[in-house]
Amino acid sequence: MKPPATVTAIFDALDRHHPNADTELVHRNAFELLAATILSAQSTDARVNLVTPALFARFPDAHALAKAKQSELEKLILSTGFFRQKSKSLIGMAAMLVETHNGEVPADMDALTKLPGVGRKTANVVLGHALGVPGLPVDRHVLRVSNRIGVVKNDDPVKVEAQLCAMLPPERWTRASDALILHGRRICKPKPLCKICNVRPHCDFYRTGVLTKPINRKIAARVIKGKPGPQKEAQATPGPQKAQKSSGPQKTRIKKDARARRTKQL
Ligand code: SF4
Repeated sequence: MKPPATVTAIFDALDRHHPNADTELVHRNAFELLAATILSAQSTDARVNLVTPALFARFPDAHALAKAKQSELEKLILSTGFFRQKSKSLIGMAAMLVETHNGEVPADMDALTKLPGVGRKTANVVLGHALGVPGLPVDRHVLRVSNRIGVVKNDDPVKVEAQLCAMLPPERWTRASDALILHGRRICKPKPLCKICNVRPHCDFYRTGVLTKPINRKIAARVIKGKPGPQKEAQATPGPQKAQKSSGPQKTRIKKDARARRTKQL
């Protein structure tokens, strides 16, 4: 577990990396964001943004969507994948909104997760981005990045959400998730771009994974055990190029000395 000051430094660094982090799903209200988030499962935000203008022009609210014919809806959302299941979820979600919530999207986690096709991640997206209620959506990027940095050690999204929420004030939850998602998409990808990452000084993966590869194994083993710190290690371990350069002049000097000794002997 990292100390609170380190956690704050990590999320401050992520904020500086991604100052405009926000959901990339285009929406005008909570209903549109809810439908778009359901569509984004196993798809991309860019793909969803291509189909939602026509979808919301035809079905602008829960009352209209609840009456949709599945065959018509499937055609509109076809390119997002899993269109049969998604169209059932959309119609079911809209019908329940009409029956139970007067067509409005409830600002409540329990009520949201009762809607067809809506899990905690989707509910948190809508709460945090459209309803002004703090929520911390955990997707695969949040899982990967937060575990690599070492702020959590768990691959269960519900537990990771609870751990992250416990270490941050509620007003930072949604933004923290947005920043982790963008970081996972742009920098801490499956093959991470650690050289341009400003979270590096606090990242466990960088300290114990990336640095050990091209560098002295004995020093790497000491780093993994916690000594010396990352800075010291970086100083103590010049890259291979640097090492070759510095051995050049030394070799030349040895050759010159040998030649001088031979000349003296003659
Ligand atoms: S240092 Fe590397 S592994 Fe750590 S968060 Fe940055 S990109 Fe990811």
